Amino acid sequence: MEKKYPMFTEEHDMLRQSVRDFAEKEVAPYVDEWEENETYDMNTFKKMGDLGFLGLRVPEEYGGGGTDYWSVVVLFEEMIRAGSSGFLTAIGVHTEVAIPAIMHFGTEEQKQKYLVPAVKGESLGALAVTEPEAGSDVASMRATAVEDGDSYIINGNKIFISNGARADWIIVAAKTDKEGGYNGITELIVDTDTPGFEVSRKLDKVGLRSCDTAELFFTDMRVPKENMLGELNKGFHQIMANFQPERLLVAIGAYGGAEAALQLAIDYAKERVQFGKPISKQQHNAFKIAELATKIEASKELSYRAADMYNRGVECMKEVMMAKLYTTDVANEVAYEAMQLMGGYGYMMEYPIQRAWRDLRVMTIVAGTNEIMKLIISRNLGL
Ligand SMILES: Cc1cc2nc3c(=O)[nH]c(=O)nc-3n(C[C@H](O)[C@H](O)[C@H](O)COP(=O)(O)OP(=O)(O)OC[C@H]3O[C@@H](n4cnc5c(N)ncnc54)[C@H](O)[C@@H]3O)c2cc1C
Repeated sequence: MEKKYPMFTEEHDMLRQSVRDFAEKEVAPYVDEWEENETYDMNTFKKMGDLGFLGLRVPEEYGGGGTDYWSVVVLFEEMIRAGSSGFLTAIGVHTEVAIPAIMHFGTEEQKQKYLVPAVKGESLGALAVTEPEAGSDVASMRATAVEDGDSYIINGNKIFISNGARADWIIVAAKTDKEGGYNGITELIVDTDTPGFEVSRKLDKVGLRSCDTAELFFTDMRVPKENMLGELNKGFHQIMANFQPERLLVAIGAYGGAEAALQLAIDYAKERVQFGKPISKQQHNAFKIAELATKIEASKELSYRAADMYNRGVECMKEVMMAKLYTTDVANEVAYEAMQLMGGYGYMMEYPIQRAWRDLRVMTIVAGTNEIMKLIISRNLGL
């Protein structure tokens, strides 16, 4: 029989099976413990590196798989089935945020120093852009990188940084031209063992608890000039260019997470008997499930279309934003309705739907809020 999605080749199917096996054996059994302890096992991260999962799209010369974007889709679709959006966020920030930045803008020396170990799972990366006073308005950031001989001196404060407390290196965005606005920001790769770096606090989040999110301080931190990533004063544009894989990842996490949440509700609705029959046999509930399943299918199709464009190197900023906007709204609706279908049990911590509900909530906020998605989509439509 013809495949539903012909872009997934036999190689993708083999990858899917090996990620599924890995997620079932190495992730799923530990998720509860990791979420409880707000951590995950770095050995699991290392094993992902050994299996080639951390550098699927990275060219082979840097130890990666040299494959296409569909492999990334496969990886995250399968990983999310293990039920740990937190661990997945840590992995995703490493592979789809930090690594692509080095891959696209790094010098040969930076690729050897940061990309090669990152792909092997020997170092963990992060990206620090957001500040307490500069969230959606990235250009208003205050952190500075001031030239001093053959170094830059970084001062400033970043917040909400995923992997911030555990990362070995962080790509930090800072002002190199205070008056330059969007054209005054530069990215620098900083090693977190450099004097002047401080994790001031690990933040206490509603969801994604196994992934650390930190507030960071940089005080007179001296970074060699060769650690500048890409071009001087082009940091904002580099960050924007790299948003595609990050937002696609959020979209995959959203439809994947929604699928898993709906399945929990379906399984429950078939078992739960009220008024003499399973609640799934109440037409309202069956119709609700059918509607949600249709929205998830639409989410997936929209994401696949954006992923296909990205994979082929077609300009797809608007389509990626639409996918991020739609999938994350749908995921939140699904999580809400799935909990509703499970009644009081759904609200109890012992049922996994609460974690899906907490984890999916953040998706309309991260990687650019959904309001910012609408702002840019509407500008794209000439409004
Ligand atoms: C779990 C988590 C992980 C994160 N990881 C990282 C990371 O690794 N690295 C990093 O740099 N950042 C990270 N962030 C930060 C994230 O990118 C920001 O939270 C996000 O960009 C929004 O910024 P803000 O929180 O300051 O909200 P604000 O920008 O203050 O926005 C508040 C509200 O106002 C709305 N709003 C703002 N401006 C407009 C406008 N012009 N039009 C309409 N509405 C508007 C927003 O949509 C939002 O609803 C993370 C955040 C979270 C919660």
